[in-house]
Amino acid sequence: MKLTNEYLLGIQKKVEEKNPAESEFHQAVKEVLISLQPVVEKDPKYIESGVIERLVEPERVIMFRVPWVDDNGKWQVNRGFRVQFNSAIGPYKGGLRFHPSVYLGIIKFLGFEQIFKNSLTTLPMGGGKGGSDFDPKGKSDGEIMRFCQSFMTELYRHIGPDTDVPAGDINVGGREIGYLFGQYKRITNTFTGVLTGKGLQWGGSLTRTEATGYGLCYFTENMLAANGKSFKDQTVVISGSGNVAIYATEKATELGAKVVALCDSNGYIYDKNGIDLKAVKQIKEVERKRIKEYLNYHPEAEYHDGCKGIWTIPCDIALPCATQNEIDEQSAQALAKNGCYCVSEGSNMSSTPAAIEVYFANNMLYGPAKAANAGGVAVSGLEMSQNSERLSWTFEEVDGKLKDIMKDIFDNCDARAKEYGMEGNYMAGANIAGFIKVADSMIAQGN
Ligand code: NDP
Repeated sequence: MKLTNEYLLGIQKKVEEKNPAESEFHQAVKEVLISLQPVVEKDPKYIESGVIERLVEPERVIMFRVPWVDDNGKWQVNRGFRVQFNSAIGPYKGGLRFHPSVYLGIIKFLGFEQIFKNSLTTLPMGGGKGGSDFDPKGKSDGEIMRFCQSFMTELYRHIGPDTDVPAGDINVGGREIGYLFGQYKRITNTFTGVLTGKGLQWGGSLTRTEATGYGLCYFTENMLAANGKSFKDQTVVISGSGNVAIYATEKATELGAKVVALCDSNGYIYDKNGIDLKAVKQIKEVERKRIKEYLNYHPEAEYHDGCKGIWTIPCDIALPCATQNEIDEQSAQALAKNGCYCVSEGSNMSSTPAAIEVYFANNMLYGPAKAANAGGVAVSGLEMSQNSERLSWTFEEVDGKLKDIMKDIFDNCDARAKEYGMEGNYMAGANIAGFIKVADSMIAQGN
């Protein structure tokens, strides 16, 4: 699909001029604008109100210095970010990413996508995202703690349980949320639900750890069922070996699939007998080591350097769960050639625009990230509800709600795609469904 609508082309051009050298942000905006073409053509109010011009401009961008001292007593400096993109339907909500590749363009793309994702969950959450170019690889626990404390020493003044509620993302898990929360509590002298993904003894929600991976499988299960298929006896390739990948592997296996591959940024493992998740959890969650260690548990499995090769493994279903643009045109073609009929995204913006073209050209089922991976933020929303009422729900209760939310998200994407004459295009369905609620709220609120 191409962007041909003159009005929307003008918006895209302005976004690129005003935000130079932020290619991921341009890409995320363009994908949404393409989907909105039939919407603005049907209802002129979305042009007359200028709501799309307003939507592509973040409400607030915060950039700050994060100084910290390493184990050798040497000062280090990183850059911190929080982009508070849109608060039309609730407080800003979205994760923090710590990775050397982080710069403003990545945080803006993630924050922009988060607006629509949060809208799809049906919960009252606006869109935001943050993080730092800090690289936690090889850092000691003490260094991670000092970094998190310094990061929060600036961030705390911009967030709050009714203002902005950050969570985890790449390299920000339970440990980091703990240090961030502890510092917030110390500075403000309040114990509130200002972050989600907290420990279970201090305000966290059961199922939050599993939520994005499980939710991805629930969404995919609904998409498969609507097309006469299921996970049962299917071969699945999953990229990454972090939070999302691990729990996607767990749920896909529980639903009857065989997951045969996982990766990290160094390389991928292929185990034709099916991944031994217990070994992976030990390596990744307990020892924090590289995925290559899997061979110590299963010498019969294969390890290959580099990640791209993972998409050449024959499979029925691919679940990218590592990072943005991890499937390019060539990888998408390899998947299609080997008989893969479904790609559903755990990582944000997993596929390049050219890869998405390949999915559609080959009639593959495509579950876009902002719908398929919304389970994490949905359970974060449920964590906020539990914090507000000072209660904790059971695992089954939260998991049940997550299942219902993912089904509603799929049904909503499906219905909106049909309504606008694009049946089966869940990407367009997700963008349109997410957009309408936020845009109508912005128009109502006059900002
Ligand atoms: P983790 O940090 O737990 O895991 C990330 C995994 O991806 C690691 O295995 C990492 O390998 C790998 N990875 C990261 N960058 C690259 C790269 N450039 N090339 C290859 N592999 C890479 O993060 P999460 O599992 O939380 O997040 C994964 C994706 O899911 C991200 O896109 C995130 O935005 C998205 N997401 C996460 C949610 C959550 O609740 N956690 C919610 C919604 C979306 P290595 O260790 O070598 O870096």
